[in-house]
Amino acid sequence: MNGFESSKKSDSDSNKDKCLSDDVIINLDRGDPTAFQEYWMKMTDRFTVVIPGWDLMSYFSDTKNVCWFLEPELEKAIKALHGTIGNAATEERYIVVGTGSSQLCQAALFALSSLSEVTPVSIVGAVPYYSTYVEEASYLESKLYKWEGDARTFDKKGPYIEMVTSPNNPDGTMREPVVHRREGGKVIHDFAYYWPHYTPITRRQDHDLMLFTFSKITGHAGSRIGWALVKDIEVAKKMVQYLTVNSIGVSKESQTRATTILNELTKTCRTQSESFFEYGYEKMKSRWERLREIVESGDAFTLPNYPQAFCNFFGKTISTSPAFAWLGLKEERDLGSLLKEKKVLTRGGDACGCDKKYVRVNMLSRDDDYDGFLHRLATIKDLKCIVP
Ligand code: PMP
Repeated sequence: MNGFESSKKSDSDSNKDKCLSDDVIINLDRGDPTAFQEYWMKMTDRFTVVIPGWDLMSYFSDTKNVCWFLEPELEKAIKALHGTIGNAATEERYIVVGTGSSQLCQAALFALSSLSEVTPVSIVGAVPYYSTYVEEASYLESKLYKWEGDARTFDKKGPYIEMVTSPNNPDGTMREPVVHRREGGKVIHDFAYYWPHYTPITRRQDHDLMLFTFSKITGHAGSRIGWALVKDIEVAKKMVQYLTVNSIGVSKESQTRATTILNELTKTCRTQSESFFEYGYEKMKSRWERLREIVESGDAFTLPNYPQAFCNFFGKTISTSPAFAWLGLKEERDLGSLLKEKKVLTRGGDACGCDKKYVRVNMLSRDDDYDGFLHRLATIKDLKCIVP
């Protein structure tokens, strides 16, 4: 039992004590990761960062590094954390820091396509995909690349980039590339959720271009820190060029805060009473158990099932508790609209290239929002409650 057992209880207990009144809108559309705030509130002192007024004034961090705006201490902290968790190889790679991995995804699209002899490069992702990729690949109407939708049905000639998100946003499944044609193909591996509180760490990922984000490890989305692990120096240089034009680097205040927090995570991750990953795992597991209980006690909804697997980090077989629930309806109806009638906002399956009978539900909301969602879901868990 870890030191956060009591806060885990408070998650469910708050359901009984206080429930949001029925006219309050619960927004579970955005993936705002506020669920872990209670952990950080108990850890105040060690994670507090003070920055004097004279510090961190230059644009530059290390002019000898390809990524000249990456703070050397952050680079060390990132390598140490991956080494301890065992989720990704960092050797013989360039680390590119970004203002969130959203900026890095766009930098990677720019880098890979501007190095391609033929443009526009097709961008694809297997359905259901992370809806933001569509915006990232389409928003600027770039001549370098073009969003082409579902990777499974993609059969266009020419170069392509496949977005592989594993575990996947929105449905939590572990993913591999699906486009079989390899020539002219590049892959961006988005490992935003490949951390032990969400999914068993079964292997050390070792790919050409891997994206990670501080936002979804600890919940510090507001710091806007992400990083890319890049094998090819030319790709890394092009990404840095994009980030230079786009924002002349990345906030050093944010990098400093991320460094402090990541270092503490690494230091405490084997101490059961303090480990963020132990706490996060229990919290997510408890949320999923409560959601499944409601879904399984009715006949209206579906949820994916995830296999248990041996987690190299925890050293035991564990379950999967994704950051989003891919909730489906057994009837052919628009589930997003149905939940909206209950004042619960979710992301419709159509935004992810799928049917509207599915929605993506943020599993990382604050306790009272999550409890309120479960309470309202319980009132419509049976088909007789929703069939007109
Ligand atoms: N990739 C995936 C799969 C995500 O879900 C998110 C956040 N929703 C991001 C990237 C972007 O994260 P950030 O920009 O906060 O680092």
